[in-house]
Amino acid sequence: MAQVQDYIRTIPDFPHAGIMFRDVTTLFADPRGFRIAVDQLLQPYAGRRIDVVVGLEARGFILGGAVAHQLSAGFVPVRKKGKLPAATISEDYTLEYGQATVEVHDDAIAPGQSVLIVDDLLATGGTAEAGIKLVERLGGDIVGCAFVVDLPDLGGRARLEGLGMKVHALCA
Ligand code: 5GP
Repeated sequence: MAQVQDYIRTIPDFPHAGIMFRDVTTLFADPRGFRIAVDQLLQPYAGRRIDVVVGLEARGFILGGAVAHQLSAGFVPVRKKGKLPAATISEDYTLEYGQATVEVHDDAIAPGQSVLIVDDLLATGGTAEAGIKLVERLGGDIVGCAFVVDLPDLGGRARLEGLGMKVHALCA
């Protein structure tokens, strides 16, 4: 029986020479692949109270929307700077080359709401950490961070666990 990782392809030298990019579009495009990815992502949280799923731009929107629907939770996007129309709070973080900023609407999460953070892939953990900080600044209570792929050599899991997060990933 096919596993999640069987649907993911690796593209060498994208977006830069030397990067082995994990392409999850092939996972999303396959009816069975997408279903097992979503089912396995939400499995630890089924039956638990999740008020809001936070998806990290952009592939976290695709997964997070499906997970939120299955958990009967709301969905909140964390977006790159300048995309959200209403008042936002923002966090800067460091990329391999340079800086980036992510934002969330300042009224998107109420204090005490239980939140699940979803993205496709955990590498250095910088993107997820920025999302975690945004949720915590709004008073959200983070139940876990769920990813399809964890690249453990890049240290993201250790970084998030160091922040007290529970990390759930489907494959390496
Ligand atoms: P990090 O901030 O953990 O270093 O990088 C993770 C973020 O970059 C995620 O939002 C993820 O979508 C994106 N990303 C980095 N490398 C890859 C990759 O090889 N494949 C995919 N699909 N996304 C990646």
